[in-house]
Amino acid sequence: MNATGQHPFALPFPIADDSLVMGGVPISLLAERVGQTPFYAYDRRLVCERVAFLRSALPADIHLHFAVKSNPMPAVVQHLAGLVDGFDVASAGELKTVLDTAMASEKISFAGPGKTERELRQAVAAGIVVNAESEREILLLAEIGTGMGFRPKVAVRVNPDFELKSSGMKMGGGSKQFGIDAEVVPALLARIGDLNLDFYGFHIFSGSQNLRAESIMEAQEKTFDLARRMAAFAPGPVRLLNLGGGFGIPYFPGEQPLDLVRVGGHLSSLMPAARGDFPEAEFVIELGRYIVGEAGVYVCRVIDRKISRGQVFLVADGGLHHHLAASGNFGQVIRKNYPVLVGNRVIGEAAGAASVVGPLCTPLDILADKMDLGHARVGDLIVVLQSGAYGFTASPRDFLGHPQPVEILV
Ligand SMILES: *Cc1c(COP(=O)(O)O)cnc(C)c1O
Repeated sequence: MNATGQHPFALPFPIADDSLVMGGVPISLLAERVGQTPFYAYDRRLVCERVAFLRSALPADIHLHFAVKSNPMPAVVQHLAGLVDGFDVASAGELKTVLDTAMASEKISFAGPGKTERELRQAVAAGIVVNAESEREILLLAEIGTGMGFRPKVAVRVNPDFELKSSGMKMGGGSKQFGIDAEVVPALLARIGDLNLDFYGFHIFSGSQNLRAESIMEAQEKTFDLARRMAAFAPGPVRLLNLGGGFGIPYFPGEQPLDLVRVGGHLSSLMPAARGDFPEAEFVIELGRYIVGEAGVYVCRVIDRKISRGQVFLVADGGLHHHLAASGNFGQVIRKNYPVLVGNRVIGEAAGAASVVGPLCTPLDILADKMDLGHARVGDLIVVLQSGAYGFTASPRDFLGHPQPVEILV
């Protein structure tokens, strides 16, 4: 595929006869089995391995939660129910998916701004922990609890007074729609104590997609300090301390994987003091893309090969409408190529650059811009790696009315 015959990025999947193999099946056969392209395929073995790696690198009493919004496919969530310690949901739809698993309700938490009264009622009835993000939610929860004859489990999502440095997506610090500003939390904690609510603890999430160990280490330290300050005003012992997550995965050329072992080592050094200050607390880290992102691929087929004034275009049956993030339109400032390869001709013969575009009538519909894919022919399978998170459900699949992709777990 390039001058040295080497593939330019690390492949999480084996290659046999120049074909990508997933779940023991060559990608072309997998496409036959699915019965169509495009499709998403997620590899259960890679998910298991990733969870095992997290368990080995992080302190034993850090519990792992899966952030369902990163990949809410029911089969993936069922698979994870036996691997992680809890689920974090962000809607009643996700709540339904996790309640269909065997996960205990007190291991499920619900975060997100703008929870409706109906969603809060469902959460209270299910007995899950609600991460309250406003005074309105706190008052509503108490009212709902009184009506149903329960004491709703509530944790306070704190909008920290610090920011996660070098984060791909900042979700805390400064003015944010998420959580309750740290400076007004003490007064609200007093209210919680007066209401019919079962106070659980704190949820402090500062950002996503961070590849720098030092930034995550610093954020974790500041998170513990913030929790200590807030706990002084709490109406009861802290039983749940959700430290957020933010562990990133490499998507683009030159990005290095997060040094998880360093993050884990540093967290271990913080734990003795944390255990002393929060003797009743369960410590949680919530991760989405780090658990599933690298375990998934998006597969589409080349249906036309065109040359426009010297540039090769591989026109595929999938694109932006199925995989918004790979097209560069999901929060990226500058469009960069995801790792993309020809799944049934991984190395191939060196044939220069080509761009993979989709069938949509918009110039935004690009899956690969001038990558080393010139050897692809009509009928070949284009595989986008790093697609296990924020793919299928994070894409405008109705845009232009093309057929929907299928999702499988192998
Ligand atoms: C989206 C989200 C996550 C997951 O983020 P990843 O980058 O996928 O790990 C975790 N916690 C909260 C509160 C979120 O909103």
